[in-house]
Amino acid sequence: MSNVIKAPASAAGGRAAAKKELPERFKAYKHIWVFIEQERGQVHPVSWELMGAGRKLADKLKVDLAAVVIGPEGETTRTAAVESFCYGADLVYLVADDVLSEYRNESYTKAMTDLVNIYKPEILLLGATTLGRDLAGSVATTLLTGLTADCTELDVDADGSLAATRPTFGGSLLCTIYTLNYRPQMATVRPRVMPMPERVARDAARIITHPLALFEDDIVTKVLSFIPDRDSEKSNLAYADLVVAGGLGLGSPENFQLVRQLAAVIGAEYGCSRPLVQKGWVTSDRQIGQTGKTIRPKLYIAAGVSGAIQHRVGVEGADLIVAINTDKNAPIFDFAHIGIVTDAILLLPTLTAAFRARLSPHSRDPKRASAQ
Ligand SMILES: Cc1cc2nc3c(=O)[nH]c(=O)nc-3n(C[C@H](O)[C@H](O)[C@H](O)COP(=O)(O)OP(=O)(O)OC[C@H]3O[C@@H](n4cnc5c(N)ncnc54)[C@H](O)[C@@H]3O)c2cc1C
Repeated sequence: MSNVIKAPASAAGGRAAAKKELPERFKAYKHIWVFIEQERGQVHPVSWELMGAGRKLADKLKVDLAAVVIGPEGETTRTAAVESFCYGADLVYLVADDVLSEYRNESYTKAMTDLVNIYKPEILLLGATTLGRDLAGSVATTLLTGLTADCTELDVDADGSLAATRPTFGGSLLCTIYTLNYRPQMATVRPRVMPMPERVARDAARIITHPLALFEDDIVTKVLSFIPDRDSEKSNLAYADLVVAGGLGLGSPENFQLVRQLAAVIGAEYGCSRPLVQKGWVTSDRQIGQTGKTIRPKLYIAAGVSGAIQHRVGVEGADLIVAINTDKNAPIFDFAHIGIVTDAILLLPTLTAAFRARLSPHSRDPKRASAQ
């Protein structure tokens, strides 16, 4: 299970020294797998994002990319399997059994570890969601292999090892971690860290079905009912096209309402930097950054946010970043596309009013517009 952390450049020799020849029992491990996460009949988009990343690794290694679909028997699981081909799968491993209707660690770990032990993948990728993190940890410990969590970059070395990069030391450094002497090499990646690949309509190809070999009576955990978190449906930050966020520069929870008002007018989700969550001004599902959500909107407006590295890693994928900050030397101006050096408390209401006027149905009525 020894994961090897590779420090930049000069320590590369350390990795070579740590690498023994892959034990004989792992030499047959080949191909790349992505776990297709489904909950309540929906495939989590992070699974398709990972298929995009997995496809690149598979092409580089010249191996197959397989999707692993685990779920209840029936249409939704089958649809997830077929859909996997549209996101680049060469084949699908399918474990369909009604015991798998609800996610439970025991049954899903059994399904995944059985598949791994029989079909032997060299790399296994999962989304760093609540479900994916739970499953990845138990699969790795059951298989006695290494797992690199919350990766921000995946690549393969010249010798074919998975190079899994993730932030460390509070986000101030990136480290690349290798699982050199064990298989599969496992990694999780948070939603929105990898870009969504284009869906290309393709017919289903090879689907390998595998029995679960586990019965309801064998599972100690029972799901009695599902009660969704009251707030969990409210924030769609990670997948929003427009996001407005506020930071400590706003000075008070009352001023944070200016962010919410602008977001409401332009149809955006609102978010914040971490100190606002720590102060209790905003709920934690709205935090953006390394320990919050990663976002990839078309437009990101950040007001009173300094742009610390832990915030930056969560927003860098945005197409257009507009930063409003009183300090012209604030780090956010190093990566914002448009910088406005001014007091956000004054600018936000003006922006909101301007957008409200511009986006009101009347302003788009050509007859009214010409009559004015
Ligand atoms: C392990 C770890 C994980 C972390 N994870 C995260 C994370 O996920 N997300 C995150 O955001 N942070 C995270 N942080 C915290 C991060 O390091 C910063 O402390 C934080 O992002 C700073 O928040 P801020 O920009 O709102 O506040 P500040 O750094 O205090 O910046 C406030 C900014 O507002 C500007 N300003 C002041 N008044 C105004 C005004 N009237 N109008 C406009 N601008 C104004 C100031 O010039 C300043 O640039 C983490 C830290 C650690 C150690």
